[in-house]
Parts: sequence; C-alpha cells; structure tokens
Amino acid sequence: SKSNTGNHYVEKESYQMGTIISQKIYGTNAEITADKITQRLKSIEENMSVNIETSTINQINSHSGQAEVFRINSDIYNILIMAEKFSSLSDGAFDITVGPLVKEWGVFTNHPHIPSQKRIKELLKLVSYKSININREKMTFRLPVKGQMVDFGAIAKGYAADEAVKICSSNGVKSAYINLGGNVYVVGHKPDKTTWRIGIQNPRAADGKYIGILSVSDKTVVTSGDYERFFMKNGIRYHHILDPRTGYPSNSDLMSSTIVTNSSICADALSTATFVMGLKKSRELLKKLDGIDAVFITKDKKVYVSEKLKRYFTFYDESGEFTY
Ligand code: ADP
Ligand code: MG
Ligand code: MG
Repeated sequence: SKSNTGNHYVEKESYQMGTIISQKIYGTNAEITADKITQRLKSIEENMSVNIETSTINQINSHSGQAEVFRINSDIYNILIMAEKFSSLSDGAFDITVGPLVKEWGVFTNHPHIPSQKRIKELLKLVSYKSININREKMTFRLPVKGQMVDFGAIAKGYAADEAVKICSSNGVKSAYINLGGNVYVVGHKPDKTTWRIGIQNPRAADGKYIGILSVSDKTVVTSGDYERFFMKNGIRYHHILDPRTGYPSNSDLMSSTIVTNSSICADALSTATFVMGLKKSRELLKKLDGIDAVFITKDKKVYVSEKLKRYFTFYDESGEFTY
C-alpha cells in the first residue's frame, strides 16, 4: 500500500476473494475509504467463499436436501435475488446452481480433469436455478435436492465492486479506480478531469495486451473469457465457464464478453451469461435491456461493440489478428 496524503491519494493492493484487488482512491478520505473497502470485501468473502470452511455458502450447500431452511443475511439475500433474476433472464445460461459441476471439473484446483459423460449426466440433474427456494418475507433459503450447491463465482465480485463504490460515495470520494481481479469500476473522472482508460484484453495474448481501449467514467467494465482459467487436453481448451445445460465448458462463438454499465453485479452476471449464450442471442438480449453495453470478441477474432459504446471505444490491436 502506497499513499501520498499531501495529494490525498491512496493506492492499495490486497489479495481477497481469490484474486488481486487494487484500489486507487483520490480525495480527503482516500485512506480510510480504502481500508473500509478492504474490510467490507473481507466480510463478503467470509459469506461467499467456498474455500472458507465456515462460510455461509458452505453451510447452505452442505445442508442441501435437508428440511432445514437457512436464515440468510442481506449480502447473501441480495446476491441470490439478483442471481435468480439473471438466471431466468438468460434462460439458464447463467445458473448459480452450477456448483456441483464446477467442483467436479476442478478448474480451480491443481488437478483439473475431464469428468466422464455418466458423471456429468448425474450432476446435471442437480443443476437448476428454478429449483432454489428463496423466501422473500422470512429471508430464508433452501436447496431442495441433496448434493445441490450454489456457486457465487460469477457474481460475487460484481456485488463486491458495487459495495466498494457505495463506500466511496458515502465517504465523499469522487474519483476512484477499483479493480477486483478484472471486475473494474471507475468512479467519476481521473483527478486531472480526464476519463479513465480501460484496456480490453486480447484473449490470446499475454496479460495487458489489449485489442482496444474504453474511455469511460462512472462505469463498471467486467469481462468473462475462456482465457482466465483453463487447461488444455488434446488441443482442446477446457475453461472455467460452464454451460449449465450441457455440463461442459461453454462452447459458444465467443472468446470473451465484456459488459459496460453502472451496476457491477449486473455486469458480472451478464458477462458470464452472454459468454455462454454466444453473439447472436446476447445481442438480442441486450436490445431488451436498458443501459447495458458490450464488447464481444468472437472465436474468429472479430470485435463487436454495442452501438452506444462505439464513441467510447478505440480499437487498438497490436497483434494485427483482430478485425473491428
Ligand atoms: P471470472 O471468474 O473470470 O470473473 P465469471 O464471472 O464468468 O468469470 O465467473 C466464472 C465462475 O462462475 C466460475 O469459476 C464458476 O465458479 C462459476 N460459473 C461457471 N459457469 C457458470 C455459469 N454458467 N453460471 C454461473 N456461474 C458459473
Ligand atoms: Mg461473471
Ligand atoms: Mg466475474
């Protein structure tokens, strides 16, 4: 953590939620805001992480199929409500009950493997967002079938980013750059009044090699791609975003999908959903939604930018392999 209180500026890095969190916060309350954000992320992680044994999510999952209902706190509640919304909006391309499959594939472990078709068929029976039971009055939650698991991996960082931004505004911070392992939120303008510049990763090149730049303010930019976590076997790329309908890594025509909007939880859910849905269906879905923009990169290396975002996007592809 680096700070220059004279200029009221704090730059802070932490490792949370399984990823690198970096914050650049400007203004009088920069230091305290950054610390509060770190604390807030810690409590979110304690609820959502499947890697923390005592986490709320692990308790929920380990009680699946039992009669018992869980009283859930507002973080879990809010995420579940949004997850349900985006699951149905995407017709199940996004599905938080994909947990058992994520665990079986083990893309996050040191020993990922390709499950047998029989095993995938078995686990698919547990996957259905329609089966989850959220009681809105009592704020309770239940997974009705034994073995079911919810996985917040595709939405938790978005939720956390929105919470971080709330902390910025309640502390009077008007300029900030918050990056939760690729889930970016830029608050206001840069201190020099220019817009923030966010690179869109080239999905087939080293980290930090871009195919274009977005110049935005007060926006979140969230990408899902087949290059974030994957393993190769017999020339096939097995990545971490599964198609909940097939049980296999999604195999749409997209290499990456970036969503640009105001709500990071929406962006996170929708980047995952659209990545699974593919170009055509995603563009149809976005037409029906307000204030959601996107950059889609297809496997044949074409870049599609939604109409309203075009004026904020600069195509810049060093590799020369992409077309726009
Ligand atoms: P990243 O983790 O790179 O931010 P995503 O936001 O797309 O990417 O989230 C992917 C994670 O979400 C996976 O690691 C897994 O835990 C979970 N997941 C995988 N496929 C799906 C899906 N179709 N719907 C919901 N969650 C998913
Ligand atoms: Mg996501
Ligand atoms: Mg994400």
